[in-house]
Amino acid sequence: MENKFMKRAIELSIESVKNGGGPFGAVIVKDGKIVSEASNSVTKNNDPTAHAEVNAIRLAAKKLNTFNLSGCEIYTSCEPCPMCLGAIYWARLDAIYFANDKNDAKNIGFDDSFIYEEINKPYEKRKIKTIQMMREEALKAFKLWQETDDKIEY
Ligand SMILES: [Zn+2]
Repeated sequence: MENKFMKRAIELSIESVKNGGGPFGAVIVKDGKIVSEASNSVTKNNDPTAHAEVNAIRLAAKKLNTFNLSGCEIYTSCEPCPMCLGAIYWARLDAIYFANDKNDAKNIGFDDSFIYEEINKPYEKRKIKTIQMMREEALKAFKLWQETDDKIEY
């Protein structure tokens, strides 16, 4: 199925490789128009969170001046990793269209299946040391949030 937005996301992924970046591109669309487009800039920006989808979400949110991107859809050259999938849900995007899938990514060295596995493990079994501490102290912020009437919920 040919799609001009996916075509653009794929173009961005190819341009990215040619410019020394990771092979990923993404486009966010609202009402049939491109709101933002981005490629992976992890190594270029020394930002491990700068995946194409996260970059596209940041740009779209800035451009539309909102943290809620409902009404928008994302076209990404590859199935989102767990971080980007989380970001897409937090951004409230309406739909995800992807081209390469996670197995295609795994085949070229971008395997994110271990992150999905980590999420399901108890803290003490995870690869990264994960320790809960000072919960009572931290709950003060949550109580304050609950008691605040003029907060911006999201
Ligand atoms: Zn990602």
